[in-house]
Amino acid sequence: MNPYQYKDGELHVEDVPLARIAAAIGTPCYVYSRAALTEAYAAYAQAFEARDHLVCYAVKANSNLAILDLFARLGSGFDIVSGGELKRVLAAGGDPAKVVFSGVGKSEEEIRAALQAGILCFNIESASELERVNRIAGALRMRAPISLRVNPDVDAGTHPYIATGLKQNKFGVAYADAPALYARARSLPHVTIEGVDCHIGSQLTDLAPIAEALGKIADLVARLERDGIELKHVDVGGGVGIRYQSETPPPISEYAAVVLKALRNDRHKLLFEPGRVLAGNAGLLLTRIEYLKQGEDRSFAVVDAAMNDLVRPALYDAWHDVLAVVQQSPAAPADVYDVVGPICETGDFLARARRLNAREGDLLAIMSAGAYGMSMASNYNTRPRAAEVMVDGGEYHVIRDREEVSDLIARERRLPS
Ligand SMILES: *Cc1c(COP(=O)(O)O)cnc(C)c1O
Repeated sequence: MNPYQYKDGELHVEDVPLARIAAAIGTPCYVYSRAALTEAYAAYAQAFEARDHLVCYAVKANSNLAILDLFARLGSGFDIVSGGELKRVLAAGGDPAKVVFSGVGKSEEEIRAALQAGILCFNIESASELERVNRIAGALRMRAPISLRVNPDVDAGTHPYIATGLKQNKFGVAYADAPALYARARSLPHVTIEGVDCHIGSQLTDLAPIAEALGKIADLVARLERDGIELKHVDVGGGVGIRYQSETPPPISEYAAVVLKALRNDRHKLLFEPGRVLAGNAGLLLTRIEYLKQGEDRSFAVVDAAMNDLVRPALYDAWHDVLAVVQQSPAAPADVYDVVGPICETGDFLARARRLNAREGDLLAIMSAGAYGMSMASNYNTRPRAAEVMVDGGEYHVIRDREEVSDLIARERRLPS
C-alpha cells in the first residue's frame, strides 16, 4: 500500500488532501498514516507468526502517545531507553509486562520506576549496571528480570553515528566477557536471567551482518546452556532499514528468513525492537515555502520547517525525498533548489539540489519523516515544535498541538531585582 497518492493533482495521505491539513492546522506539521503504521506492524507480525515472538516497538523512533496507543492496540510491546519513555508507554495504555529497557546509562530512579512498573526485561549493558540493578531490586525486595546486551563486534555497514555493534562503540558488553557476566548474574540474589540481547545498528540494508551477529549469539546461547544457564528469550534488536532514496533494504520476509535460519537450532521466544521500519515511511513533514532566493551559486527554497523539526539531514547528511503538494506540470519552468530552513546555521537544510517548479507559498512534503523526526525535534532558535496529525481514512486527528513560545519560556525565570 502507498498511502501517498496524487488525486486530481493534489497529494493526499490516505483520503485526506495535505492542503486541507495545512489550511486547518498550519505548517510545519508532521502527518502520519494510520494505515501505513498498521500495515508495517502487520508485516512484521506475519513474518514471524510461526515462531513464539514479541515485537517491542522502539519508542525513540516516534514517541507520540497516539502512535504508542496504536501499536499497543495491535499487541505490540515496547523497547524504551529512558524513564520518560516508560511514562509515555504507561500513559498510552501500553502493557509494562511487554516492555524491555535498553540503554547504557540507566539511572537509579529509572531502574526503580521500571521495577515498580513490572517490566519484562532490563537489557543490561555493563557489569556495573548489573550490580546496580541487583542492589536496587534487593532494596525493593524484588527480583529484576535481566538479559545481557552482547556486542558481537560486527560491522553493520551503516552510518557511523548509528552503528552500535562494533567493539569501539559504547553499547553492550564484550562478546568474550558475556559468559563470565552471566555466571555473575546467576550468583546474584535479586536478578533473574531472562535472555540475551543484541542490536548492531540502525538503517541496516544488508542482511549479512545480521546473520553474522545472530550466528555469534546462537553460539553464545549454546555455550550458556552447556554452562547450565537457561534463557527464555533471544532479543535480536532493531529492525532493518527503510528506503529513503535508492536504498534497497530487504523486505521483512527476507529479513525473517535470515533471522530464522541463523537461529534455526534455537527454540527460544524471539524479541524484536524495530523502530524505523515501523514508523519511518508512515509519516511526512509538511512545510510551506516562505521565500525563493536566487543565490550567486545556487537557488534556495526557504521553508518554514527547519533542522529543529527534522535534524536528520544536518546530523547524518540524510536524504529525504521532497514532493510538491500540488503536482507540478513537467512543462513549468523548474530550477534546482536547496530546501533550507530559517535557522542561523549553514547545516540547516532539509534537502539539497532538488529540481522543483516551486513558487512562494507552495506546500512541500518532506517524505520518510515518521521515524527520528519529531522525536529528535528541538526548540533551537526558540522555534515552537510542530503540530502532529494522524490521518485515518478520510479523517484526521490532531495528536499533538503546535507548541507556543509561552510553553518554551514557562520554566525560565528572570534574575531577582
Ligand atoms: C534505536 C534502537 C532500536 C531501534 O532501531 P531501528 O533501527 O529504529 O529499528 C532498537 N533497539 C535499541 C537498543 C535501540 O537503541
